[in-house]
Amino acid sequence: MAKYTEAKCRLCRREGGKLFLKGDRCFTDKCGYDRRPYAPGQHGRARKKTSEYAVQLREKQKTRRAYGVLERQFRNYFEKAEMQKGVTGANLLVMLERRLDNVVYRLGFANSRNQARQLVRHGIFTLNGRKVNIPSLQVKIGDVVAVPEKNRKIPVLAEAQEVIARRGCPVWLESVGADFKGTVKALPRRDDIQFPVNEQLIVELYSK
Ligand code: SF4
Repeated sequence: MAKYTEAKCRLCRREGGKLFLKGDRCFTDKCGYDRRPYAPGQHGRARKKTSEYAVQLREKQKTRRAYGVLERQFRNYFEKAEMQKGVTGANLLVMLERRLDNVVYRLGFANSRNQARQLVRHGIFTLNGRKVNIPSLQVKIGDVVAVPEKNRKIPVLAEAQEVIARRGCPVWLESVGADFKGTVKALPRRDDIQFPVNEQLIVELYSK
């Protein structure tokens, strides 16, 4: 499967905000965006005219990159969101939030969504007792994500409780760090998603 392999801090600098793609490093003074809070490249500091289209495009790219989703897949999410009842932008964010790799990240089992995706691909977790390796899987109410006994010595997983204490667990999930598992108590609502995004701009971009 295709994936983005370039320097991640460049993405934050391009989007003009922290996307938290590198785990703990993002909270230290080594953060690339904190050190150079302007766009990458020779003309990164130049003041640019910002068209309506450019603003919409950046909002879409920011969201797509934060969740680590490639363009085509992101577009597919949008098309599905449009077909669902309710507000398209909110539906889109909820679908991204329900991805298994995001849930693993939210439960503190990984320091970043990238790391979560890698762990899921390696088949480290079970979903309702069955091994899974599909990061894009959409979780449902009542689903239980767990780490089987044999995988619990992996350092990042053993630290999950500390991570949850530091980062907090979203209200729609329940983490039982000591038991290496988490439950989906409810589906996320738009208000539960703290990521700073104006999803309406994404809807406008795709509706042109
Ligand atoms: Fe972004 Fe993290 Fe790099 Fe900072 S350290 S620029 S938040 S990926």
